[in-house]
Amino acid sequence: MKTDIKSLTFSQLNNEVAALSLPKFRAKQIFEWLHKYGVSSFDEMTNISKELRSKLDKSYFISSVEIEDKYVSAIDGTVKYLFRLYDGEYIESVIMKYKYGYSICVSSQVGCKMGCKFCASTLAGFKRNLLAGELESQLHKAQSDLGVRISNIVLMGIGEPLDNYDNVLCFIRNVNDENGLNISMRNITLSTCGIVPKIYELMNEELPITLTISLHAPNDEIRSRTMPVNDKWGIDEVVNACRDYIEKTGRRVSFEYTLINGVNDTAQCAEELSEKLKGLLCHVNLIPVNDVEERGNVRSSDGAMFAFQQILKNNGINATIRRTLGSDINASCGQLRRKKNEVGK
Ligand code: SAH
Repeated sequence: MKTDIKSLTFSQLNNEVAALSLPKFRAKQIFEWLHKYGVSSFDEMTNISKELRSKLDKSYFISSVEIEDKYVSAIDGTVKYLFRLYDGEYIESVIMKYKYGYSICVSSQVGCKMGCKFCASTLAGFKRNLLAGELESQLHKAQSDLGVRISNIVLMGIGEPLDNYDNVLCFIRNVNDENGLNISMRNITLSTCGIVPKIYELMNEELPITLTISLHAPNDEIRSRTMPVNDKWGIDEVVNACRDYIEKTGRRVSFEYTLINGVNDTAQCAEELSEKLKGLLCHVNLIPVNDVEERGNVRSSDGAMFAFQQILKNNGINATIRRTLGSDINASCGQLRRKKNEVGK
């Protein structure tokens, strides 16, 4: 079995290169080809001898993703890719243009085990974790196809990033590396449904990334109705982990709150949420639920959303309503993979 050379950190690659009795500068050259230029074959590494290239080819492979489909929103230019993996599986990524530049939403797993009731990613089942190199290849493929530089990353595509912890951390370190894409940690956001022990593990890495929690409810009763993970780690455990995270890292935490009509969008919910988050250095992102065919959730009215936001604000909690991008191309993740799998059946 060959090792994925793109899923090694720079220091791991240095060790491998030393074990092959090669000079140190080779590691830097190889790392740059893989991560700065995103090559998908050893033959493209033109400043490396043919001999060494074939030697590398014997022990390693270079993970990648291939464009299967591409959708461009006629409304706002948001681009969505359906990527094919080496084993025939599919994942999705979305590229959004903001005033400050391009942002990519990457997938971290093929499917998801978390089972959130409103989410499309769970419907097609969990298959496997993505390799660090497959996470990064989503950027390389999108950048070269669109001819742009991506400056921001959100780990909000298919999958639960903290359920693929080691590979996600390797990915974050590699895209941040100055010999690679050199993307600032401050421009990276990791979103989790609340795997508490992993939040603590992440805290101890002391990375200046932004942590986002998918909260979606103000109490255990409502949260457990839509998010099975809440039965394992309840809302208070999650919020306490965030409090510790903020204290240790000094970084603001964000909470995602998807508003579903009649489920979690009442004034009482807003009051209860304010109470839960009181005194935390945080921000709440209110998101109109995206109606996934099989899920049958109805988005809250604009009036209910504004009222909810106003209550949070009156209670001193920073809250914004997220703008919807790419609504004409099923931009929320999980939807394309699911459709593709259905067609393939
Ligand atoms: N597993 C991680 C990463 C996925 S992020 C997490 O749970 O945070 C994707 C975000 O979109 C999460 O906040 C998720 O709860 C939210 N989401 C999923 N389905 C949605 C839908 N139908 N409408 C709006 N938001 C949704």
